Amino acid sequence: MKKLNVNKEACIGCGACIAIDPEHFDFGDDNYSEVISDENIDSDSAHNAISSCPTNAISYVDCEKENDDCGCSECEEKGCCHNHDEIYDNDELDEAI
Ligand code: SF4
Repeated sequence: MKKLNVNKEACIGCGACIAIDPEHFDFGDDNYSEVISDENIDSDSAHNAISSCPTNAISYVDCEKENDDCGCSECEEKGCCHNHDEIYDNDELDEAI
């Protein structure tokens, strides 16, 4: 299952993605961006948010499980189940658009 993901270690909380694509991103309690929806993730606004992030913190990941909540530490870091691989980095996304 393809999902959006914010790497919290890379996010600087600038808010650009949230301004560009409030359907998919919002500030979490930690004041860094987090993904708030898995619907319509290939929208133009999602692509624009990814390409606008100054730290390349946003990417798509591919989860084998649809369950978000396996509870492992890697899942908590990456925002989804542990069976994931990054399927695009931002440069590849630019080429895909
Ligand atoms: S644009 Fe990037 S750095 Fe800025 S809040 Fe969003 S994920 Fe964080």
